[in-house]
Order: sequence, then C-alpha cells, then structure tokens
Amino acid sequence: MTAETTSERKIRKIITSERLLEGGGFPVRRPFPTPGMHDVDPFLLFDHLGPVDWGPGEGIGAPDHPHRGFETVTYLLEGEMNHKDSSGHSGELRPGDVQWMTAGSGVVHSELPSPAFMEHGGTMHGFQIWVNLPASAKMNPPRYQDIAAENIPVAQSNDKKTRVRVIAGEALGVSAIIDTFIPITYLHYTLLPGAKHNQSLAATANAFVYVINGSVQIGPELTEISEGQMAQLDTGDRVTLQVNESADDKCDLILLAGEPINEPIARYGPFVMNTETEIKQAIRDYQEGKMGAILSE
Ligand code: MN
Repeated sequence: MTAETTSERKIRKIITSERLLEGGGFPVRRPFPTPGMHDVDPFLLFDHLGPVDWGPGEGIGAPDHPHRGFETVTYLLEGEMNHKDSSGHSGELRPGDVQWMTAGSGVVHSELPSPAFMEHGGTMHGFQIWVNLPASAKMNPPRYQDIAAENIPVAQSNDKKTRVRVIAGEALGVSAIIDTFIPITYLHYTLLPGAKHNQSLAATANAFVYVINGSVQIGPELTEISEGQMAQLDTGDRVTLQVNESADDKCDLILLAGEPINEPIARYGPFVMNTETEIKQAIRDYQEGKMGAILSE
C-alpha cells in the first residue's frame, strides 16, 4: 500500500453564519440553510443558539410546533431547557446533554427554558441540527435518545491537547452510544494551542467543520477558520485539524459528517419529505390533529 491510497480532505467552501431570530425570538447563528448553502445532505439545518444572556423572566424558546420526516438533535453547552411533546414524553436538557429526537411520522413539541432558568436567568448556549431521514424511515414512529452529559463518551489524545466528546460516530478509538439511521459522525473537539489531530472519515460521507470559539487550521493547506464559520470539506478519508502553538486560546469546534441520502427533498417549515404531495399531507395531518397536541400546559 502506498500513501496515495488515502487522501486528506481539503476545504471546498467556507461559509460565515447568518445571524437571525428563531422560535419565539432567540438569536442563532446559521451557516445553513442560507442563500450560500442550502443543505449538506443528510444535514438540513445547523443552528448555533447564543451564547445569549437572559435576565430573570426573559428566556425565550420555541413553543408548541410540529415536525415530520427527519430528526432534531439538540446539544446544550450552557443553560437549561425543558422539552415536552404530544406523546407525553418530557425531559430536561442540562449543559453537555444531548437529545437525539427522531420525529418520524410526527410530533408536536415545545422546547423552552426550564422554570428555574426562567426564574433566575442566565446564559443559554447550544446547538440544534436537523438530520434528514431516508424515505423508508420518514414515517417511522417517533423515537427519543436522551443522553445525559456524563454518558457522552470522551476521548483524549496522548499529549492531552486534543479532547473530543463523541456524540455520534467514533474518534480516538472511542465509539458513541447514540444510534443513528444512517452513519453520522458528530464530534465536539476542544483543541489546545499546539494540538494536531487526524480524524478518519468515511470517504463517501459529506462533512463540515463549524468553529464555536477560537480558530482552527484545516487540511494540507492549513486554511484557518474562526468563530461562527463553517468549512465544508472536499472528499477524502481523513481530515487534519490543528491549532497554532502560538494561539492565545483553545478552539472548540464541531465536526459533522454523514452519508448522503441522495433523495429528493420537499421542505416546508417543520416538515421535510420527498414530494410536495407528502408535504401537503403533513400539513393536513397536523391541522387535523393527527400529530397530537401537548395537553398539560
Ligand atoms: Mn422543534
């Protein structure tokens, strides 16, 4: 085997997030979907919520709304959110927790700051990504994977300069406990100055890097991106991530990769299907109450 049998991913495109208000009016940074990038199959949306400081009584979330045909993945870094849905499922998200929700055939849910957070205020900071489902799984029953922070596997390099929380996929020999329909890699890296890490990726997966704070150098050309920027990666079976020895700060980033589904996408607000007919059906089913409602408000 020669070195040419493997290839290091380069950057295909760099996107700077748009800033907008989502849900009831909370601030997000969104690299896609935007005019510059529609989606990164199988990912439909990437929202970086905050960090935003709310005073007592000021917290804003997303009141009752439906979803069908995909998965919403919430990862909280700071603050406290409550989740409640039409099938009676409810839960609390604290810093470091992950909720991987498969909306499937449909849920109506609310995602709101917890009562304690509303009372005292504080910093809210986190992520929500939308992962598409293949046509064969879009009408599956809803499913939740609520993973507490302490149960998310963590890996560290020998020189301790690279630390990674393995939300989905595998890094540094450590595997995630979350189960996904299609192969997904979702890694939260903390890289100290001088860190250099090689992450292998399936050659067929679409992949990108999003910087939470600091700056990272990517690929053989050491292209640097900073807070709020996303680098879509070219093809290849690995990516190199490094932080300058002389950098002032560590870098936190998210690396996401997934096998493309390669099916048509029909999208309307909270519904993502394959055809317009299926979207109309979703709207009808929601309006007729077939996705249920949250009873105890
Ligand atoms: Mn939602």
